[in-house]
Amino acid sequence: MIGAGAAGMTAALVGALEGLDTILCEKSDMVGGTTATSAGTIWIPGSRQSEAAGAPDSIEAAKTYLAALLDEDVDDSRVAAYLATGPAVLDYLQQKASVAFTPPPVHPDYHARPGAAIGGRALGVLPFDGRKLGPDFARVRPPRREFMVLGGMMVGKTDIPSLLHPLRSLENFAKAACLLARQALDRIHHPRGTRLIMGNALVARLLSSLKKHAVEIRYQTQLTELIEDEGKIAGGRFTTNDSDISIRARRGVVLATGGIGWSSELRSRLFPNDTQRYSLSPDSNTGDGILAGERAHGALAQDIRSPALWMPSSVMQQPDGHLSVFPHIMLDRAKPGLIAVNSGGVRFVNEANSYHDFVEGMIRSHRTTSSIPSFLICDRSFIRDYGLGLVHPGTRDLSAFIKSGYLFQGDTIAKLANEIDVKADALAGTIERHNRFAKSGVDEDFGRGASELNCFNGDPANKPNPCLRRIGPGPYFAVAVWPSDLASSAGLRTDANGRVLTSERQPIPGLYAAGTDAASIFRGTYPGPGTMIGPAMVFAWRAAMDIAGKLNELGLT
Ligand SMILES: Cc1cc2nc3c(=O)[nH]c(=O)nc-3n(C[C@H](O)[C@H](O)[C@H](O)COP(=O)(O)OP(=O)(O)OC[C@H]3O[C@@H](n4cnc5c(N)ncnc54)[C@H](O)[C@@H]3O)c2cc1C
Repeated sequence: MIGAGAAGMTAALVGALEGLDTILCEKSDMVGGTTATSAGTIWIPGSRQSEAAGAPDSIEAAKTYLAALLDEDVDDSRVAAYLATGPAVLDYLQQKASVAFTPPPVHPDYHARPGAAIGGRALGVLPFDGRKLGPDFARVRPPRREFMVLGGMMVGKTDIPSLLHPLRSLENFAKAACLLARQALDRIHHPRGTRLIMGNALVARLLSSLKKHAVEIRYQTQLTELIEDEGKIAGGRFTTNDSDISIRARRGVVLATGGIGWSSELRSRLFPNDTQRYSLSPDSNTGDGILAGERAHGALAQDIRSPALWMPSSVMQQPDGHLSVFPHIMLDRAKPGLIAVNSGGVRFVNEANSYHDFVEGMIRSHRTTSSIPSFLICDRSFIRDYGLGLVHPGTRDLSAFIKSGYLFQGDTIAKLANEIDVKADALAGTIERHNRFAKSGVDEDFGRGASELNCFNGDPANKPNPCLRRIGPGPYFAVAVWPSDLASSAGLRTDANGRVLTSERQPIPGLYAAGTDAASIFRGTYPGPGTMIGPAMVFAWRAAMDIAGKLNELGLT
């Protein structure tokens, strides 16, 4: 198994549990990849866990939803295999390993279509105590620095109200006190907090299980080439710190190196112009698996609607040289009192839609009016209440952000427009029109605040619309946002068992791909939260089962 993210770790674990002699080769000195820095949400329709949590979902409803979203593409045999296998994979990992899942009560799908779920389809991983890993805790890739506070404390969506308003209720106070005390204790012995949640919890749980089953993990072991032997993939060549080595595989090789990532070759070949600058992948993801797969005659899937899934990110050069790329996922973009405009000073999208749809809107708008970067615009009260990107809610002194060029400020709309070089009259008109919508509660241009997803990410206390509030009086603020890929959806063409296919759609014996090395089964659409890690784990499981020769007997097609 090549690459230790959700896909490679799952494949290695399942391989070991099914009696295979498994080696997990990882290029960096840590496991986790993008998975460790993610929210760790897993989209698996019709799970037993959702039923048990009182948020039942059905595979039938998910089929209806996907049919509305994917049209004829829904007939892909991989989609059928995914839906049929997903619940079994969750149960398998929960029963045979220490990877446990639970759905939050509400986590809506990203499109208001028939069959869309409001809750029960997206699952989270239960938190994990990093101390249980002993020295291996240092092997878990930390979350993005921008998402931690107080020297390495992870903060989940449900932690935020207690930390921001500890005196608002006894419950808030108790939770904030517990979190802070734990973090203070952790920092005595550890470089960061050990209360692991989201993607970090998933990776830590997988690592703990891999250790328990004595799976060999080789760090700093980078795949450079696949070995072909009589028409079959028989292993790989690797670069390590000491030397170049070959590892032979008797049964199969699973590519799981995290997709396109920072590969300049693949980015320039596959991504639209002006979207190639920022990736949210770790540095070690450089397209190695896809490129090696292509050299071994694997084909890239052609019928993909977008080569990547996107998040809009703001960027700040920190005084210590670190470049912070902050994805605007859900903390500010949908909240009331913020709009996004292009260089024409005009809105171009429902800002409260999913991050992928937001950037797709940017890319569309950019065809006629410069929209990369676009600008998120708000007033001072918005920053006080919700924060803006790297500026946390309640931040009083904004000078460091303004001085670094991250945050733009103007006492009037015209002055702000001048700072960010957008058309002043148009911006004033856009804000005035938006403020009328805020009063009526109806966004006549983009329907902001009308969908379950919008409301989920908005502020329920804001009336009449959770996503619309007057902007102004000044001063006004702006940050620039750029497309950044959270995952590639273009990748190697695979079949329902994860086998890599040639351009003639023939499986290459011995070669599998999972996670973002394989093309997205949703063809570059983004159905809902967890639609990358879900397929990554399910097809890793199917690949490992196929290699172990057990998939057919399970009848999960
Ligand atoms: C901020 C953020 C939040 C996200 N949240 C979610 C979410 O909640 N749900 C969801 O479904 N998706 C989410 N995603 C997307 C998701 O994280 C990724 O699509 C998924 O984790 C990819 O898993 P993977 O196993 O394919 O790759 P990765 O997790 O990236 O792992 C790849 C591994 O391969 C290693 N590697 C690279 N090259 C080589 C080589 N040559 N040899 C050996 N090893 C190599 C890398 O070092 C890395 O450890 C999020 C992404 C971001 C950025």
